[in-house]
Amino acid sequence: MSSPSALEIQPPEESWNTPEAARPKVGFVSLGCPKNLVDSEVMMGLLHRGGAELTPRAEDAEILVVNTCSFIDSAKQESVDTILEMVEHKIANGGRAKKLIVAGCLVERYRDEIQKNIPQVDAVVGTGELESILEAAGLSRPAATETNSPFNILTTAQIERHASSVNQHSRPENDSAQIINETTSRPEGDAREAAGRFSREAWDGAQTALPTYLYTAETPRILTTPRASAYIKIAEGCDHPCSFCIIPQLRGKFRSRPIASIVAEAQHLIAQGVREITLIGQDTTCYGEDLAPDAELGRRAELGDLLEALAPLPGLKWLRFLYAYPNKITTRLLETIARHDNIAKYLDVPLQHASANVLRRMKRGGTADRFLQIIDKARSIVPSLVLRTSFIVGFPGETDEDFAELCKFVEAAKFDWLGVFSYSDEEGAQAFTHEHKIPKRTIESRRRKLMKLQQKISAKAKKQWIGREVELLVEGESEETELLWQGRALDHAPEIDGKVLINDFGPHEELVPGTFYRAEITESHDYDVVARIIE
Ligand code: SF4
Repeated sequence: MSSPSALEIQPPEESWNTPEAARPKVGFVSLGCPKNLVDSEVMMGLLHRGGAELTPRAEDAEILVVNTCSFIDSAKQESVDTILEMVEHKIANGGRAKKLIVAGCLVERYRDEIQKNIPQVDAVVGTGELESILEAAGLSRPAATETNSPFNILTTAQIERHASSVNQHSRPENDSAQIINETTSRPEGDAREAAGRFSREAWDGAQTALPTYLYTAETPRILTTPRASAYIKIAEGCDHPCSFCIIPQLRGKFRSRPIASIVAEAQHLIAQGVREITLIGQDTTCYGEDLAPDAELGRRAELGDLLEALAPLPGLKWLRFLYAYPNKITTRLLETIARHDNIAKYLDVPLQHASANVLRRMKRGGTADRFLQIIDKARSIVPSLVLRTSFIVGFPGETDEDFAELCKFVEAAKFDWLGVFSYSDEEGAQAFTHEHKIPKRTIESRRRKLMKLQQKISAKAKKQWIGREVELLVEGESEETELLWQGRALDHAPEIDGKVLINDFGPHEELVPGTFYRAEITESHDYDVVARIIE
């Protein structure tokens, strides 16, 4: 590793902000989940508005930003590997980059340690200080902005979409005065804070103040998702006590954006061509519990109210939300989903386990029977409901009986989509101190067994799709082969669920990515299905 003195930045940063100077080129790598991706999009928007030009090629960048994930060990490792890869592009190593900035969850966890251990890192930006990306990049003073830069960030080319995103977010300054974020806090969050839930004391190198930042409809943002589709982060942070999870320490207490801010952002997204909006947050079903009571509603707004406000927006074809907490799925929420044609009949409820013993030690509560009741109720109120969940196997103390109960539950519940994660022991999470850790080989074997079980359930369910007519959002050429194209039906959330592969364009010479078509399902596989376009 090179010494820090070899990394002095030339020329001085100030020159980047002078009108006659070339705009600094910024390369951006975003790791982790969609929530982190929205943070990346916000930082890219800020950088662009601050006068930077974004480039997809790390070798062309003068400033490199890595927005990291630190949720579990493998994510931390990927973050560190990516930072080290970017170090190779620095001047000290014969590259072009003058500055390397590390942002995101890794900074919340190891703020002081990052620069100590990787001296080529010039600045760090935590999840609660996204706007300081400008200062970190030496762009603290306003610079000329252009909206036609052909930049493309991350891995895929979405140049047209990107340019339109920049235009869309360049809105009148006085918009911001109309939206006031009147948050208070959730009593549960306050009580858990008092009990030490958010404490970072066990973490050397972390800052004690928790993030409180929330972006607004006025914050510039550059979309990087495939055309016609965008995420909106409706809340940040989490107050839940799950004993395996360090997200609350990384992201801070739960805080919601006001409905008006989210509706304003959705309207601007739709105006620039977005047709599918996916609402995200650590737990979207807690939405509104921290907001001041709404005068019109006579109570605090809930997720159902937000959906009611968004669904009628002209031009919005598909609306969905991810990451529901099981005991927060209310009848009112389900009825709202059922009432609107453009709200996906789709629930993503990460249940984490089904054995009451494990759930209790996970500090989540619930039982397999209770979960089956919730699922039955949801399916009765929302016919044809698509259900997604995820589980953690190998939690400390998980017995063969606990795992067998989980398998039995999966067979009974028949989820449409299911993810299985191996337990990862995280310092700072309460479960880190639990005894009876499960050997890695056992964890892996349980993970494989549960996936195999789901594979059979999924393959059988996908057979039922054959002959079905669906509306398809075409995404483009298949990621696996150029012989096929791919798209998604309303039953598929972006990126995480199976795909609809297209092998027959029907009446069309060509398909246009980001456009909706009617299609008929002609074949099925374990998770994916094959379709021909009919309209
Ligand atoms: S709900 Fe539980 S698992 Fe999800 S982010 Fe909050 S604490 Fe973590």
